[in-house]
Amino acid sequence: MIGILAVQGDFREHELMFQKMGVPTRRVRRAGDLAGVSGLVIPGGESTTIGKLAREYGVEEEARRRYQEGTLALWGTCAGAIWLAREIEGYPDQPRLGVLDMSVARNAYGRQVESFETDLEIEGFDRPFHAIFIRAPVITRVGEGLRVLASYRGDPVFLAGERAMVTTFHPELTDDPRVHASFVKLAEKGVSLKAG
Ligand code: GLN
Repeated sequence: MIGILAVQGDFREHELMFQKMGVPTRRVRRAGDLAGVSGLVIPGGESTTIGKLAREYGVEEEARRRYQEGTLALWGTCAGAIWLAREIEGYPDQPRLGVLDMSVARNAYGRQVESFETDLEIEGFDRPFHAIFIRAPVITRVGEGLRVLASYRGDPVFLAGERAMVTTFHPELTDDPRVHASFVKLAEKGVSLKAG
């Protein structure tokens, strides 16, 4: 089962995309909602609010435990990517999961280009993906266990690890299910590895 962190942000858009793909999902608001979930999507929104609520509701602690145990795959989009990052430049105290060895700078594309769209070449995809960026963070450091699958003007915008995906753009705002499909595969793999 795919879980979608549903405390703030555009979780409904993710839900709709999975629905169109015929993939069942569950809204995750409390730690207990993670039972039976093999992959958790963290939506775009406001990373400070998402971080605060996820901590308050106990989702942060349980997601960390499950990720470290190897039974939960994670995918953060935009604000969700910030939540996953070990370091948030200039915001050392912002609540976050912080399990991925990477650094991000929030809202780093500047006022002039706050939001933009571009056709991205993504490793493993046979044609470009139309990527929508909305006040996106810039990934300023990619550490251990993460690989860059796509970049925009030299900055990584799509990372993948063994049990994690990071996109600073919003695949849930397009009609293209390919990034969602990649995550479903990743989440299924984790579970079967554990079971086998
Ligand atoms: N700018 C937001 C933040 O820093 C993220 C924007 C988004 O998720 N679209 O929290």
